[in-house]
Order: sequence, then structure tokens, then C-alpha cells
Amino acid sequence: MQSEASYTEAEASQATTRIYMDDRSWVDADFDRALQRANQWHRWSASVGLKESREKIQACAKPQRIHDQLPMAQPDWSIPDQVKVLGVSVRPKMCANTELETDRLKAALKRAQLLSCLPVPYHRKLEIYKMFVIPKALYGWIIRFSTKADSNKVFNSLSKMTGSNYVANPLIRSTIYGGACHMQVLLATRLFKRLCRMRSRGTAIWTNIPGTPAKALRSWLKDLGWQEQTQWTWKRDDITLHAPLHTEVTAQCHHIRMSWRETLLRKWAGGKRHEAQEWRRLTSPLQMRAEIRNLDLEAARKSFMKSDAPARAINLGSTVSPAWMGRKHADGDPRCPWCNQLGNFLHIAWHCSQIPKAKD
Ligand SMILES: [Zn+2]
Repeated sequence: MQSEASYTEAEASQATTRIYMDDRSWVDADFDRALQRANQWHRWSASVGLKESREKIQACAKPQRIHDQLPMAQPDWSIPDQVKVLGVSVRPKMCANTELETDRLKAALKRAQLLSCLPVPYHRKLEIYKMFVIPKALYGWIIRFSTKADSNKVFNSLSKMTGSNYVANPLIRSTIYGGACHMQVLLATRLFKRLCRMRSRGTAIWTNIPGTPAKALRSWLKDLGWQEQTQWTWKRDDITLHAPLHTEVTAQCHHIRMSWRETLLRKWAGGKRHEAQEWRRLTSPLQMRAEIRNLDLEAARKSFMKSDAPARAINLGSTVSPAWMGRKHADGDPRCPWCNQLGNFLHIAWHCSQIPKAKD
């Protein structure tokens, strides 16, 4: 270990320093230089009479070998497994949610629960959810994504908040209106935008080192089937995604969202829902893939945003047929109310010859 005296003041200043009001953080790839920079600050602040809460100083390092040196180098500092910077958990190694992150997610869910009491229409509630619940849940995830289970829990709190469409499949709900309010895709597009900004400033590094923003985004996109072409360029089917330096960031984020929606829909199509099973029975996997790609999800999304409660139920598949009711409930009548045949969804929606004509 080098002694900190081996650095001049100018050299020590190379440690990345961030000052936010009365909070300061130092980050450096060089252990001794980071310590020296922090100590320089404390010497200066003592010399000008600033009152510092030295017991609040936290430090952590990676790898573990260096972290273990910290208590010897700075015995009066607190050396936890993760430090808290501006309400964000920074950890030197992979670990499950910290208490801070768990508490924040709980607080977001609590907000949704409280806001569910508001007597406002559906679309207004959606806006309120985006305004108050989502920012709370999104805060603090910088290069790490919340787990899919946690993200889904926050997303499902919206259904509880609006008190509607409980039987709609979560994958369909996410596909139709999750693009603007599901943590998984919001975290990805935020990270993508941040990397574009970093590229403009020349600070983005194309790497696969765990714990870096590039690695986090690359892994997330890989899961959706994006293949890397060159640095900062991906391809998926016939769509090219690139992290631009200045413009087109919004258009590129649209590609990310669409690929996320398509992936969810494919997952749904392979699932146990009877509509999905029916679809599989009627078509080949290849045809199904093509049909999913040809779906106008943008039109579905726009129509959903303008729809009333019954239209939303149809849009999300949040309905049950008489056939389903007859199977689930002993006193349910499985027959079509118009022709007495088995009233499954396909029959009611498409095949019944006796269905009354819609009034103008
Ligand atoms: Zn019928």
C-alpha cells in the first residue's frame, strides 16, 4: 500500500469529487489517492472552522482485499458493506436489495395504496400514479435494475389503485400501458438516455465490467434479443438501435419500448392463458411470431388511452366468457346467451350468428 504522502495536492485532486450542498463524495480507482483527497478536505474544513460530523463519514472499497484495509487506514470512519450517497445505496459487490431500497419500494407501494382513495377517473389516476408513485420507486437505481418481481409489484399496485381490470393478464397490461409506467422499461430508457449524454460529454465507456452503466444496459438489451453490431449499436430483427451522441434519443427509446412490449407479448403467447393456448392451436410458432410483429401495438396503446371502462376491459382481455363462468362456478351457465351453444370468447366475439347487431 502506498502512503498518501506520495501524491501531490494536484495529483490527489484527480479523484472524482462531487459536492451537493453539505454532502461530499470521492470516488477513485486509486485507493490512496481517494483517501488523501478526503483527508485534504477535512484538513481544509477544520482550518476554516467548518463543523463536520466525522462520525457520518462512510467508506467502502472493492475488491474485498482493499475493503479490508480500510479499517486500518481510517479507523475512525464507518466501514459498512455499502455506503449511502444522496439516498442511494452504493455497494462494492453484488447483493440483494439494501434496507434503503426495500424501504423505498415499500414507500412507493404505500403511496399507491393511499392514492387509491382519491375519487378521480381512471386516466387521471394513471397520471397521478406516474407523478407520485413512479418517481418514488425509480429513485436510486443507477446502474442496477430493481428485480422483475419488485418492478411487477409496483406496476400491479396501479391496478389496485384504479380498482379495475384485475383479471387482465399482467403481461398484456404491461404491453398496452406499461411503456410509460413500468419500472423495468423506464429504468432501461433512463439508463440509455444517460449513456447518450455521457457519450456526448466523452465520459461513456463501452465495457462489460460489472457495476458499470454500459454493462447494465448491454445485459438488459441482450435479454430482449438485441444483438450488438458495433460499440453502441444493436440490431433486433430489422431494427437498428444506436446510442446517439446528440439527437434521436427519443426515437431510439421508442425502439427499446417496442422491443420490450414485443418480448412480453411473446412470453404471454407461450403461457397458460386459454386465449394463448387457442392461438397456439390455430397457428404455427413461426406464423405467431410474424403475427406479433405485425400487430399495431402503437394503435392499441393509443386506443386504450382514449377508451372508457368497457373498452378498456376488452382492450386488456379483462373479461370472462359464459363458458369460463360455467366451468368456474357451479351455478354458472356456460351457454351463449343468444344461441345456446357453448359461449366461449371466440364464439361470442366472432362466430355467433344470433348476436344482436350493435346500435348506431
Ligand atoms: Zn351464440
